[in-house]
Amino acid sequence: IVANSEFDTIAAISTPVGEGGISIIRISGSAALAVANQLIKGPDLTQVASHTINYGHLIDPTTAEEVDEVMVSVMLAPRTYTKEDVVEINCHGGLLATNRTLQLVLSHGARLAEPGEFTKRAFLNGRLDLSQAEAVMDLIRAKTDQSMQVALNQLDGDLSRLIKRLRQDILDVLAQVEVNIDYPEYDAVEEMTSQMLKEKAQSVKQHLVALLQSAKQGKVLRDGLATAIIGRPNVGKSSLLNTLLHEDKAIVTNVAGTTRDVIEEYVNVNGVPLRLIDTAGIRQTDDQVEKIGVARSKQALDAADLVLLLLDSSRELTGEDRALIEATAAKPRIVILNKTDLPSQIDASQVQAMIGDAPLLKTSITDHTGVDQLGALIAHLFFEQGIESHQGEVMVTNARHIGLLSQANEALDEVLRGLAAGMPVDLVQIDMTRCWDLLGEITGDSYQDELLDQLFSQFCLGK
Ligand code: GDP
Ligand code: ZN
Repeated sequence: IVANSEFDTIAAISTPVGEGGISIIRISGSAALAVANQLIKGPDLTQVASHTINYGHLIDPTTAEEVDEVMVSVMLAPRTYTKEDVVEINCHGGLLATNRTLQLVLSHGARLAEPGEFTKRAFLNGRLDLSQAEAVMDLIRAKTDQSMQVALNQLDGDLSRLIKRLRQDILDVLAQVEVNIDYPEYDAVEEMTSQMLKEKAQSVKQHLVALLQSAKQGKVLRDGLATAIIGRPNVGKSSLLNTLLHEDKAIVTNVAGTTRDVIEEYVNVNGVPLRLIDTAGIRQTDDQVEKIGVARSKQALDAADLVLLLLDSSRELTGEDRALIEATAAKPRIVILNKTDLPSQIDASQVQAMIGDAPLLKTSITDHTGVDQLGALIAHLFFEQGIESHQGEVMVTNARHIGLLSQANEALDEVLRGLAAGMPVDLVQIDMTRCWDLLGEITGDSYQDELLDQLFSQFCLGK
């Protein structure tokens, strides 16, 4: 059942989405400073004076990547619109930058605000009286309806069709529950109803999980598939990186790594955006300085969506090669036998046996053989076999939709937990209704009244 979240920390885009050069993400609540401080490189926001605007960089703390250049307003309670601590991040406008900033805020401790919720807080915290609040709400509603329309227009037709279907499914089961609750004298009916709810919750959940997965792929399309180039020293890692970079006619950005040990480059290979990470080589070492580089490489491997593991075919397989084959076993990987222009010292079928199903490719980077096949193979893995991929699935990239989908998914978890704990069906039904409601917010059809009307029109006949 819903937790009381009246006074948790909320956030929303407070400028019209997609317009203008600057967007503002507003955060309100006792954790507002803490949330923002994790994401800003620059001044320590907990130390700056109230009602100041501060220059800094927005970073993604999980990758330390700089996302945007921002101005951050800090306004401490109680002299603020909500009477709570308020932080406003002014980031670059445009859908992607704004969404990304909002997503970072939402994944670091804030909850997506409902339309009008900042004003509701101002009212609840005694800053506005009811008539003032209502006036502001009307204004907001007019604005929200407009941006709602924009959001609806952006809605992928497939997404909205799928959501509508899921909602209809939920509605059918809710209606059935409603009917069954009227016959409490039959225990068997209660049991049947629970079973029905459980099956429905599970099937809807499958769809939501797939949609949330697709949101991840949306992220891949924006950020690049994290691809680690791994291999012991001298196998040709840097040569491969340079070749791929040289092939690409449209390099988006070049980001030099923070140390000489790891270099990151963005490159488009056969339509797949890759964030290539050339590592210093993962291996045992006693040397202190080298250890740092090795640790970084291990991190790169952990974070990788795809591994390109290079072996030198002109040398016999070493213990280090074997260790790397083992270390990368859990990752989607392509194993590359490089330097095939030189006399071979490696038995390809032996390597294939060690790597199981993973593709094995022969290349000579100096002769430029096998490089085109590598591109084709990466595209195949991404688009057809789906490293992280869900081709044919609906794709979700909008932060608001992602937030609502994961909340709807949580409501289903509640349903399933409640059923497993033997909770009465009419209580479980509340969470199922909440799921229906949240999904409706995505398509803009969420009205409790509609639910009541539909239930009524379907089942009042003959009663
Ligand atoms: P890294 O240490 O793994 O980054 O390896 P490098 O890319 O620096 O390459 C090490 C050496 O191997 C360089 O002299 C390259 O020119 C050479 N090399 C790279 N690929 C090939 C190849 O396919 N054939 C031959 N013969 N030499 C190569
Ligand atoms: Zn190198």
